[in-house]
Amino acid sequence: MAYKVHVVGAGTSGLIAARDIASAGIETRVYDQKRRLGYPPRASGIVSIKGLETLGIPYKQAITNTLYGANVHVGDSSMRIMAKKPQAHVLDRERLNRLCYEQAASKGAEVITGTNIDADRLDAMHAGGIIIGADGAVSGVAKHFGMGGITKYTLTYKAEFEVAPNDTKSVDLFFDNAVAPEFFAWLCPNSEHVVEAGIGIGPGHGNSRAAFERFLKMKYVAGVLNGAARLDGYASMIPMQTARRVVDAKKRVLLVGDAAGQVKPTTGGGIVFGGGAAMLAARTVVRHEREGASLEEYRMLFNKGYGTDLKLHALVSCIYSRLGAGHLEFVMNTLKTLGAEGFLSAYGDMDRPGLMLKRFFLRRAAE
Ligand SMILES: Cc1cc2nc3c(=O)[nH]c(=O)nc-3n(C[C@H](O)[C@H](O)[C@H](O)COP(=O)(O)OP(=O)(O)OC[C@H]3O[C@@H](n4cnc5c(N)ncnc54)[C@H](O)[C@@H]3O)c2cc1C
Repeated sequence: MAYKVHVVGAGTSGLIAARDIASAGIETRVYDQKRRLGYPPRASGIVSIKGLETLGIPYKQAITNTLYGANVHVGDSSMRIMAKKPQAHVLDRERLNRLCYEQAASKGAEVITGTNIDADRLDAMHAGGIIIGADGAVSGVAKHFGMGGITKYTLTYKAEFEVAPNDTKSVDLFFDNAVAPEFFAWLCPNSEHVVEAGIGIGPGHGNSRAAFERFLKMKYVAGVLNGAARLDGYASMIPMQTARRVVDAKKRVLLVGDAAGQVKPTTGGGIVFGGGAAMLAARTVVRHEREGASLEEYRMLFNKGYGTDLKLHALVSCIYSRLGAGHLEFVMNTLKTLGAEGFLSAYGDMDRPGLMLKRFFLRRAAE
């Protein structure tokens, strides 16, 4: 069979794109270098419920815990943001990948695992169809077709610990440029028996594993982990900017997910934005094949759907990375005085700061 669309990478973004294109009856093939998809679990799985609901994945079978809020720690101060309703699920990433795989396959996409796509194979695919680069943070597709340009990454390290969390409903976030420069560290109750500790640091601050070991020595962190057995740990990276181009209509190449840097720079969350962008890329490809629409539509749809929020996330992340610990604590205490705990508990939005600001101004206008 001659495949019209080749998706490189069977992570969540690639599989969501493949699902939607194959659903329209277009021959679609997905390739992944891994034999066991979604493994090893180098990333965490905290995803907003609202965001998950937009992706059309049967994600419920992958839930390991549900979160209502966060404890934000800055220096000696902390702020507790707790909503009345559940805000996010913690997902088993390998199981989530499996569910996306089954869904894409059920719609007719062919998924080939254990196959590395190199430059020669990309050229061969290019001659016969559309390529979707969904090959992660260091995208070979973006590089090969001159669309990359992502130079900013956060280096991460995370590990799970076999211990019952004190509080299963909230994640602890540690903002301190001395501990996790330019990003943050976290303790997440992955389930009733497992706590995940993780850290991200900007480039030029040494290695993430060393920063992680220092983080574990913090009094609060040592107290929560309480000498528990450590399971496997993994280093990885998160792109901190979008690719120079997300589509090249002439070459018929589109980038989605981490390959396109579709990640919130404040939190490193990429499942909702990458998956949402993959749906837009699929919609564009279907319109291109059926009605001859330009593939450039993808860029416009992406900017319309995510541009403002990504810019707001980038702005917050940029301001934060420039603040020293003392300034950060001052900012947080000032926000607390202004009622930020109550406001964020009621109106906080993990994905869409634009919507949150809108709600803030609407509330002010109504007062
Ligand atoms: C420590 C950490 C914590 C995170 N926490 C969260 C979180 O809590 N919530 C959240 O939403 N996001 C989180 N993220 C981000 C999230 O994991 C990514 O945004 C998301 O996985 C991107 O999905 P993707 O499908 O674009 O890429 P990936 O999941 O990276 O998938 C890319 C696939 O491409 C394959 N591939 C690569 N090169 C080739 C090749 N040459 N040939 C064939 N196949 C290839 C890979 O094997 C891989 O399967 C975290 C990331 C990290 C590192």
